Order: sequence, then C-alpha cells, then structure tokens
Amino acid sequence: MFFKEDPRTAAWIPAALLRWFRTAARPMAWRETRDPYRIWVSEIMLQQTRVETVAPYYERFISKFPDVGFLARAPLDDVLKAWEGLGYYSRARNLHRAAGIVVARHGAKVPRTVEALEALPGIGRSTAGAIAAIAFGADVPILDANARRVVARLFAVEGDLRSYATENLLWERSASLVRKGKGRDTALAVMDLGAVLCLPHSPRCGECPLGSRCSSRLRGLQDSIPPKRARIMIPHHDVVAAVFRRKDGALFLVRRPSDGLLGGLWAFPSGRRDPGETLEDALRRSVREKLRVRAVIQREVGTVRHAYSHYRITLHGFLCESPGGALPVGEETGWLPGHGEGTFALPRADRKLVEIIHREEER
Ligand code: SF4
Repeated sequence: MFFKEDPRTAAWIPAALLRWFRTAARPMAWRETRDPYRIWVSEIMLQQTRVETVAPYYERFISKFPDVGFLARAPLDDVLKAWEGLGYYSRARNLHRAAGIVVARHGAKVPRTVEALEALPGIGRSTAGAIAAIAFGADVPILDANARRVVARLFAVEGDLRSYATENLLWERSASLVRKGKGRDTALAVMDLGAVLCLPHSPRCGECPLGSRCSSRLRGLQDSIPPKRARIMIPHHDVVAAVFRRKDGALFLVRRPSDGLLGGLWAFPSGRRDPGETLEDALRRSVREKLRVRAVIQREVGTVRHAYSHYRITLHGFLCESPGGALPVGEETGWLPGHGEGTFALPRADRKLVEIIHREEER
C-alpha cells in the first residue's frame, strides 16, 4: 500500500499537516480551554453541526451549566431548552445522562481514556478520540466526517467508506497521522483541513499543504473519493397540529415521548395525515387518539414547512376548542405562556407556529 511503500511520505505528511496547522488553525472559544467538560460539550454540539451554528449555543450552554455537576443536577427540560434550535436532541438527552454518570461514577471528572469515554451515552469512538486528544493530549486518532474524507483522500481509500473493511483501514490510516505527543494538534489539524481545504465538493487541492503527496490528487481521484451517494428521495408528510388557546393566550402543549425523534420536547398535540384523509379529519382523529378528548375546529391558524434530516413536513395548525374544556393535566402536558417564553423547549416547526399565532394576535 502507498503508505507502507514510502516511509518518507509516512513521516512527511504528519509534519506538513502540523506545520500548516500552526498558522491556519481556526479560532474557536472551546479551543481556548483545556477544561475537558467544555471540550466534551463542544464535541457533542459539533456532531453534524457547523462551527458557526454551534458558537452561540456553546457560549449560552456553558454559562448556564458551567461544569459537569451543574449539568447533572439540572432538570432535563432546562437542558433541552438550552439546546432548542440546535437539533438532534438525543445529543442533549445523552449529554445530560452522561453528566449524571460522570458525577456518580467518576467523581465529577471527565474520564481520560477513549474506552471510558466511549462507555458514556452519546459518545462514539471518534468523539471519544477527539475528547481524549484535545482535552488530555492523548495520541489517538479521530474519524469524524471531516477526518474520514481527508484520510480517505490522502491515502486514496476507495469504495464505501462505511463498510467494515474500509472503516478499519481508515482508522489505521488516521492513526498513522498522529505523531508522538501531538495527538491534540493532529486531531484539530485534520478537522480544520477537512473544513477549509479538503471540502466535500471541489476540494482546494491547489492550496493544500499535503497536495504534493496526496494519493488522490496525484491520481486525479479527489473528486470521486468519497464516492457520491445516490440521491435519495426525502419523504414528505402533512402533519396537523391542534392549537388550544386559553383566555390569557397560553397555548396547550404535550411532551413528546423521550425515546423518539425530538424526544422530550414540548409540542402542539399533532399527528400525521393518513392517505385519503382530510386535514380536519386527521386532526380530530389525532386529538382523540392522543388526548382522549374531542376537538372542535375553529379555523386554520398557519402552515409551517420544515425539513428534518430524513423527511420534510408541512405542519398545519388549527385553532381548536375542547367542549367542556376537558384537556388532560399532568406532567406530560403544559401551557406555554401567552408571551411565548418560559422553560418549554419546542421543536423548530412548533416554535414557528407559535410565532405565526403571536403575529396574528398583534395585528
Ligand atoms: S490535496 Fe486535495 S484531496 Fe488531497 S488532502 Fe489536500 S485538499 Fe484533500
């Protein structure tokens, strides 16, 4: 293989990568700390999310939950509220659960090894590697989305990058980039190279410090590694939402089941429209099934379109009344105050619907 055949290149690539990183490192708030807790939070937030999006969330989260003890003691609702809008809410739920474990089993100290980190909820091998490398300087590899692409291109690893055989090879190649005592900088350098030069589309090979030894570039494969995925049709669903409004303007919400999509968030009572069903019929059925009450529809209050990672929805909000006012009460239901603030974390589509309702009230 390329790497084994040329030991000079094996030494040259990590050295050139670190040289480049010394002048090109991107400034980020979480890079200015060695606090393992803060680095852990940042790595979880950065999963599937861009740096620019994460930055304000990170600042707010850390000021609200400055250490692992604060986070462990906080109610899950507060954590979800701080995460509202960032998406992939299982990350917040797992982070909260993992904080409890760190306090209970590790004396409130973030574990140092990849193995112990990986045992925590929400931390896979690459995130564990990133935390161990960045927070503790461990000489371990990472393989997040950026690293996977960079490593595959550098060593011209072809084929499905998620297959078992390729995965092992990529980990091996990623490990080969880590020089002794340079685990932290290597992890950050690979991340940065993938974010600013070795881009998913049209990599900027002409500016790349590794261009002269990059196997893909030398063989003209940089645009075909990783292989393009076949376009998949993203399904669309019509979802109906019941808006029950009290006289003081408060809006009735239900908590979503903790184990599903948007788990633990607060949303309008809602349901998908079945094929052939009218929106109104779907709404009455959903409310009957979920709340065991009858919904009398007043009018449609707004429509919101939103794309999740695997499907798109059009959310149709209908102002409803429940005859006799018999809406269920309990821990899984609540009233969002008329001004829209409070401790409830809402999915983005429901939050947009709240904004539409408020705008309508102001007219
Ligand atoms: S030369 Fe091009 S393909 Fe190779 S690592 Fe650099 S940017 Fe990526």
